Amino acid sequence: MQLRYSFRLYPNGPQRSALARAFGCARVVYNDALRTREDARAAGLPFVSSAVLSTAVTAAKSTPQRAWLAEVSAVVLQQSLRDLDTAYRNFFDGLKGKRPRMGAPRFKSRKDSRHTVRFTANARWKITPGGDLSLPKIGDVRVKWSRALPSAPSTVTVVEDASGRYFASFVVETDPEILPAMDNVVGIDLGLTHFAALSDGTKIDSPRFLRRAEKKLKRAQRDLSRKAKGSANRVKARIKVARAHARTADARREFHHRLSTKIIRENQSVAVEDLAVKGLARTRMAKSVHDAGWSAFVTMLEYKAAKFGRTFHRIARFEPTSQVCSVCGVKDGPKPLGIRVWTCTACGAVLDRDINAAVNVAKAAGLAVTACRARVRPGRVPAQRGEAGTHRDGQMAVVGIPSL
Ligand SMILES: [Zn+2]
Repeated sequence: MQLRYSFRLYPNGPQRSALARAFGCARVVYNDALRTREDARAAGLPFVSSAVLSTAVTAAKSTPQRAWLAEVSAVVLQQSLRDLDTAYRNFFDGLKGKRPRMGAPRFKSRKDSRHTVRFTANARWKITPGGDLSLPKIGDVRVKWSRALPSAPSTVTVVEDASGRYFASFVVETDPEILPAMDNVVGIDLGLTHFAALSDGTKIDSPRFLRRAEKKLKRAQRDLSRKAKGSANRVKARIKVARAHARTADARREFHHRLSTKIIRENQSVAVEDLAVKGLARTRMAKSVHDAGWSAFVTMLEYKAAKFGRTFHRIARFEPTSQVCSVCGVKDGPKPLGIRVWTCTACGAVLDRDINAAVNVAKAAGLAVTACRARVRPGRVPAQRGEAGTHRDGQMAVVGIPSL
């Protein structure tokens, strides 16, 4: 199986300039190729093939306008064309219904928050005996190796993020590490009031370190909005926002890693609702905030399941899991988001909305779970700890999650 490993890079001044040049050339090649294809489409001509575009890149190097393309590795430029092909393929597959719909490929901008270039084996990049990353026409860049690579990678992608940090990202072939089999199975409901609810009755909130990072980001964004346009302070504030963004993303990834590893280690089978289906039921704002995080998390669950020999189920249902009683299976109709506990009109079970949904997800995947954890025991206060926060969050979710 293939896994991605990322490491922080520390290019020096000249290397940063060389990387900026590589990012720029990759972007120009991408945009030129996109324009060629769009012009052809507008003129009613057939789709321009990759081979034609590739020849055009080589030809462009001998023109005065594009001569500087020769200053970067040719592999970087070819890989940029490959990226455009992938963007088109995803777009067409979306139109054909083979995958969720995506927008048409878009022009890249110098102002994009993320820049990448990719070096394949053809580019003859290497890891030096001293542990530097040696890149053609860039130099030997210092790497912080935070963990060992399980095998030699053939391709490296160099990324510059919004806060000006550099990373080397490797796709590596690894062998699965099959864990001893166990009986536990679990369904997961990804929610708005909690990050996740599990069919075993557990509710998981974002950890404090992530909430703190999000709060700092929010403050930085507010500061930025108060700075006068074109001022030096605004530039500083924008850098602060970018850094806070990066730290929030790191904290979120860290949380996703910890949680997905724990769930996969503790369960033989894991079931999650298909997010594309789940998305239909939500507001645009809630979707944009949550889907990015959820899909990253679900992707981790999926590859870790493969890595550790567990089973991963993605269930597609067109019936909201919160409408069905997990005890008797009767569909009880929609309920407003503020309702966290409800009583089934058919069997009288008092159900926790999120856990009930998680049990339904597990059942839909054919996993043998009991609904007993979804039941709120009579006589008890019908909510887990942090009830007040839960309710407040639930209502905020309806108006667009201002807390994020
Ligand atoms: Zn019922």
